[in-house]
Amino acid sequence: MRRRRKTKILATLGPASNTPAMMRALFDAGVDVFRINMSHTSHEMLAKMHADLRALAEEVGRPIGILCDLQGPKIRLGKLCGGPRMLKEDERIKLVLGETSDKPEEIPIPHPEIFQAIKQKHALLIDDGKVRLRLLRKGDTFAEAVVEVAGEIKDRKGVNMPDTLLPMSAMTPKDRADLDAALQLGVDWIALSFVQRPEDVAELKKIVAGRAGVLAKIEKPKALASLQGILELADALMVARGDLGVEMPLERVPGLQKQITRAARKAGKPVVVATQMLESMILSPMPTRAEVSDVATAVFDGADAVMLSAESASGSYPVEAVQTMDRIACSVEEDELYHSIIESQRGVPEKTTPDAIMAAVHEVTQTIEARAIVCWTKSGITAMRAARERSQAPIIAPTPSIETARRLCLVWGTHSVITEDIRDFDDMVKRASQIARQEGFAQAGERIVITAGVPLGTTGATNMLRVAFVTDDEEQRA
Ligand code: PGA
Ligand code: MN
Repeated sequence: MRRRRKTKILATLGPASNTPAMMRALFDAGVDVFRINMSHTSHEMLAKMHADLRALAEEVGRPIGILCDLQGPKIRLGKLCGGPRMLKEDERIKLVLGETSDKPEEIPIPHPEIFQAIKQKHALLIDDGKVRLRLLRKGDTFAEAVVEVAGEIKDRKGVNMPDTLLPMSAMTPKDRADLDAALQLGVDWIALSFVQRPEDVAELKKIVAGRAGVLAKIEKPKALASLQGILELADALMVARGDLGVEMPLERVPGLQKQITRAARKAGKPVVVATQMLESMILSPMPTRAEVSDVATAVFDGADAVMLSAESASGSYPVEAVQTMDRIACSVEEDELYHSIIESQRGVPEKTTPDAIMAAVHEVTQTIEARAIVCWTKSGITAMRAARERSQAPIIAPTPSIETARRLCLVWGTHSVITEDIRDFDDMVKRASQIARQEGFAQAGERIVITAGVPLGTTGATNMLRVAFVTDDEEQRA
């Protein structure tokens, strides 16, 4: 089974989609990586989703990526004892410290830090900024605010306080416990929310110790200020437009999206564009024209993956949302301007052997119109380097490592295949041709470009390029 699309689809699981049958339907519709959002998931549910997804991968015979998204120091409302509530403009409301309150008129927030740090006239933005409150006065365990922008609030919705300096570290005790659980299960990617400094990523990487890829969510102005440092340490980035668009003026988000995706591609690291991509599909089977255009822009920007949040986690049309993304990505990738737009973003190779080899792989692939680039890889680095070139031909990444195969599910244009270690150079060429044919990328007589670091297994030492004709089984036996 192969996908025709290069841009990957990342879909969040939730009550609308966390059954084995829905996971299967979403995979069939095009999901490459599933996201488990620890803001809304217990350890028990995490273990269950993880087991169901691993079983699904067995069933379909394809690696499937699992990304575990740590909440980070995100402030959320507690549980509203009276259920969802409409806040009216100019209404005065009371916020209290706690997970919940037995008075339905009080809004609980379970973070003592905010009652310490917030000051008069500071804004509190709820649910990606849909509702805005302004602080009137406060005590140690309560605060009074006036509603400036009206709207409905629900349990556990996020709260941003762009005016307030919050004395919180990158990982809360909850994040550490969630991380432990996720690493024990063996998820493929760990995402960290509200990264502010490179040290935040370093702290997480130290604990993860190579057991998963580390993705830094860019959603704070501080993170943008040290994007290069974060990018050097992180294995991937996310343009987390939900919080980014609350912490920064909304109109700056499209430019920042371009800036972040370009920086990530230049560094050869996967980048995900996330949040509200098909927001209206939470309630409607059809997207808006603007949403279609938004997904298309991310694909034209060369993002490795586009993401669904509530659309797939709690919406009424999760499968339709994935199908919609799939159709948009496929259509853009076939657009006559797509490759010239992507090509214009290609960087110049650095003066290293792997960079030079990859630039050559790209040139050769384009010139002879090779059907696929086959990257033998143990760590995944060779495949990620090839993906950075964004060549027209798809990338096949045979690897003996199941962890690498799963992690590569997030990477642009890459179809990973778990296979046993190669014996020698001839074996590598022969099996590359076999895999390209069996996986449906090339037919006998067509050409593929093979690249690897020889001897295989020396991480990062991409140094070989070989053009081969795909042969059929008969010829191979002869
Ligand atoms: P979240 O992250 O859904 O965990 O908030 C994505 C974003 O902020 O866009
Ligand atoms: Mn966020």
